[in-house]
Amino acid sequence: MKPFLLTLLAEGSFTLVGRYAPSPTGALHLGNLRTALIGWALARQSGGRFVLRFEDLDARSREPFRDLQLADLAALGIDWDGDPLVQSNCRSRYEQAFARLEAAGLVYECYCSRRELSQIASAPHTPPGAYPGYCRSLSPTERARKREELAAKGRGPAFRLRTNQQSLPFIDAVYGPQTGLVDDFVLRRSDGVFSYNFVCVVDDAYQGVTQVCRGRDLLSSVARQNYLHQLLGSTPPSWVHVPLVLNQKGERLAKRDGAVTLTELGQRGVNSAEILGLLSSSLGFAPVKTARQFCQQFELSKMRREDWRFLPPR
Ligand code: GLU
Ligand code: ZN
Repeated sequence: MKPFLLTLLAEGSFTLVGRYAPSPTGALHLGNLRTALIGWALARQSGGRFVLRFEDLDARSREPFRDLQLADLAALGIDWDGDPLVQSNCRSRYEQAFARLEAAGLVYECYCSRRELSQIASAPHTPPGAYPGYCRSLSPTERARKREELAAKGRGPAFRLRTNQQSLPFIDAVYGPQTGLVDDFVLRRSDGVFSYNFVCVVDDAYQGVTQVCRGRDLLSSVARQNYLHQLLGSTPPSWVHVPLVLNQKGERLAKRDGAVTLTELGQRGVNSAEILGLLSSSLGFAPVKTARQFCQQFELSKMRREDWRFLPPR
């Protein structure tokens, strides 16, 4: 029998698992595709797996867009392992994780309305975007009264995580050492839908994800997600946040910005090979024609870190 360590080395004790997790609300645009391409290349360069997940708990998601997004990825030459996970099929798994946090006394009801929350957001001494824990320590009588008030308006409470943190440090592979906010964030909305931060952590753990590559607009979620991984006993992935694609106004690219999807660009005579060339040069590399070529020449440490403004052809 081979010694244990040799067996581990021979079989590869660590396989990187990368993922891409789009919301199926339409065709993928150049910003989505650029992020997916980088995440895919990083996974494949290391001989790792690349898995997909459709974040479709939000009401704007539509089933037909799943196939459309898969076709978009395939058209660029991005492949994936196994069947994509579909969050709307996983509700009982989320209920179980939520019940574990509840049983540990880590969940409390929040009765704040959207308007109250926006007033709170502008209050002094609260870090921007942080929930200051207004509903954390209400008495049972106060809770009963607030619950009744809400019920009279046909609403229910949201559920928040009881954190005893304010911030946590972490390292991003692109943007370096960071400190991120950890407040009592929402686990479940008042309409019963589990929150993005909660399901993202539960699913990254479930899918065995070891590396998350996504747009830098989500850097502010990392500390909260790392903290929740700790509570649920899972190992947080490593974090690779990548620059955004912007429209002419300097805002994050969106579908309404014109010809920004593969189909729309195709109709204006820009084919997939040209799009790959455009994406690779936008990141500071020679224009390639295939995803495989991109994978061969892409180096994270040499990637351009500035956001990229894209002017769609008319
Ligand atoms: N579903 C999110 C999006 O489409 C991505 C979330 C993530 O990668 O953690 O922007
Ligand atoms: Zn509240």
